Amino acid sequence: MMLDGGRDLEPGAENRRQTMAATDPDGWEPAARADWMKPQFTAGPGQIRRYGSDFAVEPATAILCDPPSWFGLRASRARGGLSNLWGSAVLPYARSDLTGWPVRAEELAPHYRAVAEFLPISGRADALEMLFPDLPMTGRVPIQPAPQAAELLRRAEDRTDALAKHGVVIGMARQAVAPGCRLCGMCLHGCPYGLIWSGRHALAQLQALPGFDYRPGDIVRSVAEDVDGAIVTLETGQELRGDRIFLAAGVLETARIVLRSQSGPGELTLRDSQHGFLPMLHRWPNRTRPDRGRFHTLPQAFAELRAADMSPHLVHAQIYSWNEHFPRDLVDNYGRVPILVPLLRGLARRLMVAQIFLHSDHSHGMTLQLAPDGRLKVGLQRNPETDAKLRAAARRLAKAFSALGLFSLPQALRIEPPGSSFHVGASLPMHHAPQAGQSDLLGRPHGWSRLHVVDASSLPAIPATTITLSVMANAHRIATNAP
Ligand SMILES: Cc1cc2nc3c(=O)[nH]c(=O)nc-3n(C[C@H](O)[C@H](O)[C@H](O)COP(=O)(O)OP(=O)(O)OC[C@H]3O[C@@H](n4cnc5c(N)ncnc54)[C@H](O)[C@@H]3O)c2cc1C
Ligand code: SF4
Repeated sequence: MMLDGGRDLEPGAENRRQTMAATDPDGWEPAARADWMKPQFTAGPGQIRRYGSDFAVEPATAILCDPPSWFGLRASRARGGLSNLWGSAVLPYARSDLTGWPVRAEELAPHYRAVAEFLPISGRADALEMLFPDLPMTGRVPIQPAPQAAELLRRAEDRTDALAKHGVVIGMARQAVAPGCRLCGMCLHGCPYGLIWSGRHALAQLQALPGFDYRPGDIVRSVAEDVDGAIVTLETGQELRGDRIFLAAGVLETARIVLRSQSGPGELTLRDSQHGFLPMLHRWPNRTRPDRGRFHTLPQAFAELRAADMSPHLVHAQIYSWNEHFPRDLVDNYGRVPILVPLLRGLARRLMVAQIFLHSDHSHGMTLQLAPDGRLKVGLQRNPETDAKLRAAARRLAKAFSALGLFSLPQALRIEPPGSSFHVGASLPMHHAPQAGQSDLLGRPHGWSRLHVVDASSLPAIPATTITLSVMANAHRIATNAP
């Protein structure tokens, strides 16, 4: 039995999607293309919108009481959750980042493999494979990189030694995208063809299984257990009984449900992977206009930085080539003098951006408490080294990227608000001997035996590389091993 928020794309938006998907991108009218993008451009600050809809993100005030302006994380009550919006970048955690974890890399490895069997993963075997042996890429098919990215990847392959001197490895991005990408460039607006993987897709397969009971709209308020089994109480007050509960409501809702359900610790600490955007200009000339033709706008390349003097953990960067946000952002920020606008649009065609992520040890934390009205109250646990670490990482990467012909602007690094990476969790971290506020190796919070927390909340920490594949692998491990 799966209880779920279950919100869906509104019928009007779904009809628009189907109309777009019925035609090859070359057949789209320019106005249809512009209309598909427009709602995303008009989204408010911090609001993530896809398919012209807000169905997949709850407003901050739905979950939080007095949400602070610096807090970038949001919850979802959609069918498929935030995977309706995500960037689909996938990597396992590097084994070196699992050192000291109560769950060993060898124990997680088979579950990465199991997830990689049903999750479509695009990409190819390249230099990154040495760092991430738990996601072998042989036999996978890459999405054709955009021309700027293809040139960058070609240069990275030629200059692996120069990169290695800076502790950097670069390879093609791995994306959870089904084969057949139409290179329509709408990735940041909702894939009209539904090729970017979403939990909705897995759910549709599960629903075809006999005995699988999906209950959209059954919002969970709290959980409990007794000698006979586990009990879920819905917002309606209805109680449902079962043998055990696997809780994966996204880290905010999971925290809220756990805090409402137990008399234990009144506060949990959420750990974040802090991120920032590093702008870079490529020195090589464009052979073709990067804003014309067919291309995708998901992350194009991954760069991993290992710098032991700076951190024992990997720094992860996702590199984007031209997308329609580049000229808009440049003109919005610097285009007050109209004569500059064409210049800025031209500059945008040389722009590439690295989204840099830090390990949670170097990032701010966030405290979560239950407010009297049942929502969460969030506080900032400031890490004094975060900004300096991110700037140092940007400078290191900038030096390495310069060997590829990229002129980086570390002084223009845009540091994003805590939580806004959505690479967040470890609020009930697994531990060999869990205390209050921790869970055991099967995700059971201290004192519980039938409740398994299987989303990012039970990860012991948040390494810098992408989070979702590891959350899925850990959930698969717990579900496989649960009594
Ligand atoms: C813009 C964006 C880009 C991202 N890009 C990437 C990326 O490139 N790579 C990556 O690894 N990660 C990325 N992420 C993060 C990724 O989307 C999340 O890690 C992932 O979706 C978390 O999955 P989850 O199932 O744990 O939680 P969610 O996606 O939050 O899903 C929660 C589920 O629980 C249900 N639910 C919630 N509350 C209740 C309740 N009270 N009762 C019943 N059901 C409930 C919801 O309906 C939903 O089905 C991105 C996120 C965003 C927003
Ligand atoms: S380019 Fe992006 S939006 Fe277009 S088909 Fe490929 S994945 Fe989907």
